[in-house]
Amino acid sequence: MKNVVLLGSTGSIGTSTIKVALDLPDHIRLIGLAAGNNAELLLEQTRQFQPAAIGISNPAKAEELRATLGTSAEVFTGTEGLVKLATMPAADIVLIAIVGTAGLQPALAAIRAGKDIAIASKEILVMAGETVMSEARKYGVQVLAVDSEHSAIFQCLDGKPADSVRNLWLTASGGPFRQTPQAEFASITVERALKHPSWVMGTKITIDSATLFNKGLEMIEARWLFDIGMDRVQVVVHPQSIVHSMVEFVDGSMLAQMSTPDMCLPIQYALTYPERVRSDRVQTPLAKLGSLTFEEPDTERFPSLNLARRAGEIGGTLPAVLNAANEVAVEAFVKRRITFLQITETVRRVMDRHEVVTHPTLEQILAADAWARQAAVG
Ligand code: NDP
Repeated sequence: MKNVVLLGSTGSIGTSTIKVALDLPDHIRLIGLAAGNNAELLLEQTRQFQPAAIGISNPAKAEELRATLGTSAEVFTGTEGLVKLATMPAADIVLIAIVGTAGLQPALAAIRAGKDIAIASKEILVMAGETVMSEARKYGVQVLAVDSEHSAIFQCLDGKPADSVRNLWLTASGGPFRQTPQAEFASITVERALKHPSWVMGTKITIDSATLFNKGLEMIEARWLFDIGMDRVQVVVHPQSIVHSMVEFVDGSMLAQMSTPDMCLPIQYALTYPERVRSDRVQTPLAKLGSLTFEEPDTERFPSLNLARRAGEIGGTLPAVLNAANEVAVEAFVKRRITFLQITETVRRVMDRHEVVTHPTLEQILAADAWARQAAVG
């Protein structure tokens, strides 16, 4: 039985984690939950799982929850509240599924309190991968991947060292515009960008999947999680989303992890690792699926991949800048203030203007993040 704190319980990953907890009541106990704004769903989850403590970022809603729950659960608020939840003495593992960078401080707090962490929020590793992984080594805790691609690589690697790897292959569905001609990109609407062909996810990651920035962020995430150079992190387009990613070993052998796409599977693996626990939720009828295909990504229509490779290769504060500029640009696109093409243009412009700090401290990373957010607006 693992005691789990779930940050971002009301989102897409959060609600899939709730399903996994319901599937496996003998393996997973939710002892802490946190949400941003959705007090109604958080209250429902609290009544269902009886966690010892919960958090909500909106202080007014925290007051309402305190009034409703009385002494049955402690109610925290703000970043401080997230840190309190992430360091609960009884917690074995903290799953971070908060969109954006708000999960960074609780992630570091959890590591320093000796907790294993399961990371869905890839932004954390993109911004501060070097710091997070070195702190995890220092405190002897595990950083487990929730992203399906990184879970697949983790499963294929199965403890083999980085020097046994020729390449890590991240698969990409290609998103809704895989076959869209370049000439149409200028007129892509928010509605079209939000229609992902194989996954149902939160708004930010769905837009990132349309620009392929999601894959770019994942390249940098893989670089840190598996301690491997960017030159050995590759992307291949696989529209069926059945092969979740692959490892190519130095002898030329390739191992892939496959299943029908369902985030419950990598979430369950991260929360029950190193065990494999029985669940009938995911079934993969290969004969019915027919064929699996692979193609080269088109970096002309999707320049985000080269921008991410550049950020990952140069390192320092540049990945944090890419991430922050992208977050601002995605929000502006969703609010219809900029066009689809301007998302990538914004990120490129801000990256070009940035003076990189190598081996940055956390303060320098946060400063670069704040600078990039300003620069992206201007
Ligand atoms: P959603 O937008 O669906 O959910 C985000 C969650 O974060 C919500 O529960 C939201 O609460 C909560 N939240 C936001 N701000 C705060 C805050 N300050 N304090 C506490 N909680 C907060 O996102 P997803 O679930 O899609 O994605 C979460 C992360 O997982 C992202 O980093 C994404 O890249 C990554 N990821 C997602 C995948 C997916 O399939 N969705 C796959 C792989 C990775 P509320 O709703 O109450 O405001």
